[in-house]
Amino acid sequence: MLGIMMDKQLNIADILEYAAVYNRDAEIVTRLVEGGIHRYTYADALTRSKQLANALQSLGVQIGDRVATLAWNTHRHFEIYYAVSGMGAITHTINPRLFPEQIVYIINHAEDGVVFVDLTFLPLLEAIAPQISGVRHIVVMTDAAHMPESSLPGLLCYEDLLQGQEADFEWPQFDEKTAAGLCYTSGTTGNPKGVLYSHRSTVLHAIASCRSSALNLGPMSRVLPVVPMFHVCAWGIPYAAPIAGSSILFPGAGMDGASLHGLIDGEKATALLGVPTVWLGLLNYVESIGGHLDSVDSVVIGGSAAPRSMLEKFQDQYGVFPIHAWGMTEMSPMGSLCAMTPYLKGADRDARLRIQSKQGRPVFGVEMKIVDDEGNALPHDGRTFGRLMVRGPWIASGYYRSDENAAFQDGWFDTGDVSTIDPEGYMQIVDRSKDVIKSGGEWISSIELENYAVGHPSVAEACVVGIAHPKWDERPLLLIVNREGATCTKDAIIAYLSDKVAKWWLPDDVVFVESLPHTATGKLLKTEVRARFERHYTG
Ligand code: ADP
Repeated sequence: MLGIMMDKQLNIADILEYAAVYNRDAEIVTRLVEGGIHRYTYADALTRSKQLANALQSLGVQIGDRVATLAWNTHRHFEIYYAVSGMGAITHTINPRLFPEQIVYIINHAEDGVVFVDLTFLPLLEAIAPQISGVRHIVVMTDAAHMPESSLPGLLCYEDLLQGQEADFEWPQFDEKTAAGLCYTSGTTGNPKGVLYSHRSTVLHAIASCRSSALNLGPMSRVLPVVPMFHVCAWGIPYAAPIAGSSILFPGAGMDGASLHGLIDGEKATALLGVPTVWLGLLNYVESIGGHLDSVDSVVIGGSAAPRSMLEKFQDQYGVFPIHAWGMTEMSPMGSLCAMTPYLKGADRDARLRIQSKQGRPVFGVEMKIVDDEGNALPHDGRTFGRLMVRGPWIASGYYRSDENAAFQDGWFDTGDVSTIDPEGYMQIVDRSKDVIKSGGEWISSIELENYAVGHPSVAEACVVGIAHPKWDERPLLLIVNREGATCTKDAIIAYLSDKVAKWWLPDDVVFVESLPHTATGKLLKTEVRARFERHYTG
């Protein structure tokens, strides 16, 4: 027997329609790419999104068309999210840090007809223009006064495009499974793969994200998503914040410590979200000026493992509650996190940090299991490692126009991560399955070694890779970038690590390097490191 309830379809446009009426106190503050601060309300954003939808319609954009963005976190990018998805087209966010040939590939693969571009990224488009002939219109996200000189003919100006457009637009009604957003994973090997979000998955993810047992967003929150809107939709904040009634602070192009601190302090940010490298920059800056983070209640740390030293600093030195979170592009991205619970609150400092170093409990909506290579479920004892499988309504069931679907098995998605799950339900990432180090039949976690290594005062960044070894199959090699002015030796690092990990986990060698290679999403590019040091132990 079916329930007798309305079959109202979930739709992204409804989020902004709601916020415009009921979340009137909230504001959207943007550090403009052109300089200065812009502020307005959800009602203003709705009006402009409707004007933009009218403009896009006049450019010939139709339901199902892909509309791309190459842009920072700004109010204009926010308007594009709602205008494009709201009219039934698909917002395709492009990561400008990808290699130009990858950007060419994904624009052509997605068949983007229109590209919105921030001033910063216009040279990038100019360089690849001959290879993206399917793009009919390029809109520069600025006003007439800031329109740049360009080799590209027929550039459109965002503010001119909106001017004179009707402030009324009737959002079409469609099936909630209709595609709304497209985001390509950076992929360390092979071509990027497209994840195609729906209205349903986006709205459900947003509702789940704001709850107090997740990101804890509400009308009093002033949330600063440092995580870019070009990477997994800024972890869904542009959808979650208007539902929660929170204000949003968009940092524009200012991702460095000084710019972030200026925005946090000036705009009294309460909730921050970003990856560990960004927080390292912020913490270094705040420390250097003897500053504070007094307005901030919580900081979400995800995308890579949060080192214990970072959790300690936020918590002990600045009184900020760190929420360690895990997820991925294929998961919209939220999978698990370490929210405050009586269990966490009751733990002593050391036990609490040990729990917070884990990637947390799954949020409602995400199911998790760990399995062996034959697919058998493994125990949740906090020790047994297994391939981490997930399923849920905001998890991809395949890639866009791709045959590479091996990760999708029997209704589960193989995350490519190896993890443990403890009896309390806390999941801990041990490694990416391709990065775990197999030494003499046992596994060593490169992430755990890196997290300990960055706790050493002279270490700015650490990378551990497994290198072929004649006797042990693979052995760990530790690469270190020293902090500016710091000097450190192999012996000092090994001595520092030796009371933290088992003796057989200790790296066989430590190499000091000027810098380390990163992917477009800021993760260590270990394939390149492994290739470079391939023969380090075999000669
Ligand atoms: P990319 O496009 O670079 O793959 P994703 O954001 O989708 O970017 O990357 C997801 C991966 O990042 C996860 O599978 C996991 O390996 C890693 N990751 C994310 N959050 C964490 C975390 N808190 N700790 C450790 N690894 C993490």
